[in-house]
Amino acid sequence: MAKHIVDEFTFSLSEVKPCLADNMRVRIIAQFETDLAPILEILFLYFRNANYSRNLHCVTTKRAGQSTTVFGSGRVAMTFLKNEQEAIDRLRELSNTFSKAYTYLENTGPADSETVEKKENINALQIHKLLPQTDCGECSESGCFAFATLLMNGEREIDDCNPMKLRENADKRSNLVKLIQPIDLTNIREDRSDLAEFLGLKR
Ligand code: SF4
Repeated sequence: MAKHIVDEFTFSLSEVKPCLADNMRVRIIAQFETDLAPILEILFLYFRNANYSRNLHCVTTKRAGQSTTVFGSGRVAMTFLKNEQEAIDRLRELSNTFSKAYTYLENTGPADSETVEKKENINALQIHKLLPQTDCGECSESGCFAFATLLMNGEREIDDCNPMKLRENADKRSNLVKLIQPIDLTNIREDRSDLAEFLGLKR
């Protein structure tokens, strides 16, 4: 089984099979050699459209019809991929996200349990309350509630609603960001040497 190394993360594909829903697509299982349990809740707060299962100890996120489940054990399952190469590309991207999540953990600490609970119970009604509620249709949806549902599912972005960019809606926008993506890993700067030490991989 070929091992793939992306900075501090090593993974291998343990299974590649046709998707049950479409046999032209593949589903895969990969195993990371790093324990992902410490960053699971951080990933949950970062991924849009994510579910967190405390029982199975995993986080699932969906994007463009593809589903990715990350287990605390380091196992990752993905569905609806074009081929094995796409799987490897996605796993490389994921390694980068894990790296940022570990940096976040090291710098900021674990995810706040109250925020995790809030995100577990998020619904379209809560999102709708933070939108302008004018049903203006500028976003090309039938109204703010339809937009709220798509936003919750990760199919639209907050910036697709132009009125939310107005100064008068700044507080609503900031509360909405906190609700749907309480942790933003995008701009996290990693210190590779610190990270390797933190992961117990000092080389
Ligand atoms: S653009 Fe914004 S305010 Fe207008 S309908 Fe869409 S979500 Fe509502």
